[in-house]
Amino acid sequence: MAHAVTPSPAKSGGEPTPVAYEQALTRYEPVLGLETHIELGTASKMFCSCPTGFGAEPNTQVCPVCLAFPGSLPVVNEKAVEGAIRLGLALNCSIAPWGRFARKNYFYPDMPKNYQISQYDEPICVDGHLDVTVDTPDGPREFRVEIERVHMEEDTGKTSHVGGATGRIHGATYSIVDYNRAGIPLLEIVTRPITGTGELAPLVARAYAAELRDLVRSLGISDVRMEEGSMRCDVNVSIQPVGTAEWGTRSETKNVNSLRSVERAVRSEIERQAGVLDAGHRVVQETRHFQENTGRSISGRSKEEAQDYRYFPDPDLVPVAPTEEWIEELRATLPELPAAQRARVKAEWDLSDTELRDLVNAGAIELVEATVVAGAPSAEARKLWLNELSRRATEQEVELGALPITPAQVARIISLVSEGTLTNKLARQVVEGVLAGEGGPDEVVEARGLQVVSDDGALGAAVDEAIAANPDAADKVRGGKLAAAGALVGAVMKATRGQADAGRARELILERLAGA
Ligand code: ADP
Ligand code: MG
Ligand code: ZN
Repeated sequence: MAHAVTPSPAKSGGEPTPVAYEQALTRYEPVLGLETHIELGTASKMFCSCPTGFGAEPNTQVCPVCLAFPGSLPVVNEKAVEGAIRLGLALNCSIAPWGRFARKNYFYPDMPKNYQISQYDEPICVDGHLDVTVDTPDGPREFRVEIERVHMEEDTGKTSHVGGATGRIHGATYSIVDYNRAGIPLLEIVTRPITGTGELAPLVARAYAAELRDLVRSLGISDVRMEEGSMRCDVNVSIQPVGTAEWGTRSETKNVNSLRSVERAVRSEIERQAGVLDAGHRVVQETRHFQENTGRSISGRSKEEAQDYRYFPDPDLVPVAPTEEWIEELRATLPELPAAQRARVKAEWDLSDTELRDLVNAGAIELVEATVVAGAPSAEARKLWLNELSRRATEQEVELGALPITPAQVARIISLVSEGTLTNKLARQVVEGVLAGEGGPDEVVEARGLQVVSDDGALGAAVDEAIAANPDAADKVRGGKLAAAGALVGAVMKATRGQADAGRARELILERLAGA
């Protein structure tokens, strides 16, 4: 079949061609806003005692409350409120002394009540901030992201569309709903508009999502797995001509589920909107959906006419009124937060910006720290986690912390090397053995017979053999050419399959040949 060579027709009605990123940034200034949903890791749901475990048979974790049977009444989960307050405190927010839940009314099949219990104008946390750092060619740059609010709400169920090719509703023959997720507690964290980032906007968005994820993880209130949906970001972007004061119309890219996609979604949206404005059109206020495969988003629902959710206070729930004492008790439970932890380990371990960044990117701070606590010097601990172990984690496609080796075991391997029982090469075999489930470091050393041969009996025999097998080299050493001893050491190492203590072998060789 011949390929068409004529230029494609003008895209009347279609999307104008996006403008290359660097180009767009010379003429437009972006504004960002992020709305992030975090699924809390509480044992039970937000308003009932149903369990929340992931992956159960559909519709087995439900009850009259989360299925909205008439006459059932919700009760607030105290642990969820605790999680919200602790996150608010960690984000430097004020905690509202009194606030109500609101009903957000809309119809959707995965929401049995036809309203979602959320918070509207009385969120539990307001007016905070989170500082994030972005690497630039001129060094790290810090941005303060203002947090408008953190509020509590409940998740919806999950709809599957069956029979179509794409899994979307279009083309499906029927749809089924699993209500296990309905009623799982969510926190929504909303930023104020983020301005002044210029070309760094995609990186600031990504750094914010990463920092928020690490902060939530350090609080232990959620497993924040973006790939499993326990953290998802809606990314709002607008652009305005450089030098103008008024923000542009924003779009909202929904449910972006990886850090990389957050960055790409901002970038591609700036390029798209620049194309729209350059073509003399206006940006439409709408939701969009990011496509992993193309790196671009497609248009979703228009938000030109604001949907009226008819919010009103939920009359079935008492207000949430945390006392000062409770808030202070919760403040006392805050762990060292990621930013403080980074600053501390940087100073304690004397790291450069790059070394710190590598450690953070590998998600290795806690692991290295635990290894140091178990007795290892920080430099050695860092090296083992960032080189050998990171390589194996990548190979096995798991996170570093998911490798079946503990920091205490890593510390033990490091001490076996420093006391001379293992060479670095043997240490790698011990790591391999531990990861393969052969036991702890000492067991692997024992079972695989890996310890360095340094006792003079075994080593002496190997030395004698090496001298006998290499008479020329031996003669040279006898004649004073000590460099020739290298060949003999090499022979000893080969005979002992790398397990000889090379230093001791050299000493023995020189002793024997000097005495001859
Ligand atoms: P909605 O209720 O439609 O989601 P919000 O007022 O909650 O609207 O705002 C959503 C997010 O968009 C917030 O993070 C806010 O800071 C951000 N935002 C508001 N205006 C703009 C804009 N012009 N450009 C980019 N982001 C914006
Ligand atoms: Mg919103
Ligand atoms: Zn329930």
